[in-house]
Amino acid sequence: MSSSAVSLGTVVRAAVRQGLLPAWAPVAGLLDVRGIRTAAAALREAFEEAGAPRDTTLHAFAVKAASLVPVLRLLAAEGLGAEVASPGELALARAAGLAPGRIVLDSPVKTVMELREALALGVAVNADSREELARLDELLRDAGGPPRSPLGIRVNPQVGGGSIDALSTATDTSKFGVALRDGGARAWLVRAFAERPWLTRLHAHVGSQGCPLELMAAGVRAAYELAEEINRTVGRRQVTTLDIGGGLPVNFASDDVTPTFRAYARLLADAAPGLFDGRYGLVTEFGRSLLAKSGLVLARVEYTKTAGGRRIAVTHAGAQVATRTVFAPASWPLRVAVFDARGRPKTGPPVEQDIAGPCCFAGDVVAAGRPLPLLEAGDHVALLDTGAYYFSNHFAYNTLPRPGVYGYAHAEEESDGVRFATVRAPQSLSELVAESGGAYAAELTALR
Ligand SMILES: *Cc1c(COP(=O)(O)O)cnc(C)c1O
Repeated sequence: MSSSAVSLGTVVRAAVRQGLLPAWAPVAGLLDVRGIRTAAAALREAFEEAGAPRDTTLHAFAVKAASLVPVLRLLAAEGLGAEVASPGELALARAAGLAPGRIVLDSPVKTVMELREALALGVAVNADSREELARLDELLRDAGGPPRSPLGIRVNPQVGGGSIDALSTATDTSKFGVALRDGGARAWLVRAFAERPWLTRLHAHVGSQGCPLELMAAGVRAAYELAEEINRTVGRRQVTTLDIGGGLPVNFASDDVTPTFRAYARLLADAAPGLFDGRYGLVTEFGRSLLAKSGLVLARVEYTKTAGGRRIAVTHAGAQVATRTVFAPASWPLRVAVFDARGRPKTGPPVEQDIAGPCCFAGDVVAAGRPLPLLEAGDHVALLDTGAYYFSNHFAYNTLPRPGVYGYAHAEEESDGVRFATVRAPQSLSELVAESGGAYAAELTALR
């Protein structure tokens, strides 16, 4: 591991020189290994400083934010676990070598099969609903012994939403968890724990992007208070662990990392004194805030044109790698940095341009009317802060391939000072054909 940072200009130049954007793969995702390690360390240190007990705290990375096996392995090397929400995500965490005890399964739609597998492995499970708890009852009855998995219930503290509706998990009517403020819910939850000594966790995830920290802290406080009430009522320390979810927002407007894990951990210590006093183990589930600032999408400009007086750069980065930005541009603006054909920073007077993508629908624009040095065919654009939920959450429109993803680090011995490692190879045409029914080409015409 190297300790020096690699500047944006250096990494783009090296990526172009080292051939990461060959003719057949004009877009790629890049991940800053040092940046990821730094973010993981900042998370650990922030909670330790706030008083969270080190040996009973698990920082579980939300796998959906960057569903890439080598990333999970890197984070594991930094002491993190994984929060998974589907059989696929669980498979990735296991492929990364994570022990079941470092994995937490959350999802609002766990099947009986998934629950059974999690219980057999000893993976922690947070039940999302009353019906799911009833399924756990049955599975445990069948198994005939106490569960190896730590088990809990997810509550929706119903503290309200943030500025992005689609990402607000704690509104009155959110689909997640047991709605804590609904009539009778609190009493039902206390009884559910009283009747099931194996229920030892409470989970709340108030997020995500667009939620003020105070709202998130209010949600954590509600879960903490419920744990205290349950333990008082049942007369034993039954709830041993609070899973406080993730959801820390990310600053997409500049290089500043704000808010910080430290600010949030301090706020939590204030909002729920007692949360960190050693009586409770802690699980966190941060995703975006661990990865966003350590990634970028690098794409070639294929053509430029004007239409109705508007300048447009048609690039290879659009809705397939920046889905949220394209479909909800007001909520997800991205910074765009521009480079020439050799990967050197582009200079020149700012000219308003649209940065468009390759998809065949009119809205496939990642930045509209953005003042930037005038782009030309063969130049490159970098979409910044896209390490989470962008290139790893590919949208398969137009049968565009999943782009290659490469990690990078400073390397003295390389002529341009940067070494890359493959995280995921670009998807090939034969893989695209296979996932589009290539093996069944004649099946429909054979139906009569
Ligand atoms: C998505 C999700 C997270 C991570 O959210 P971020 O905003 O990426 O930190 C954590 N926990 C659960 C249950 C989630 O669904």
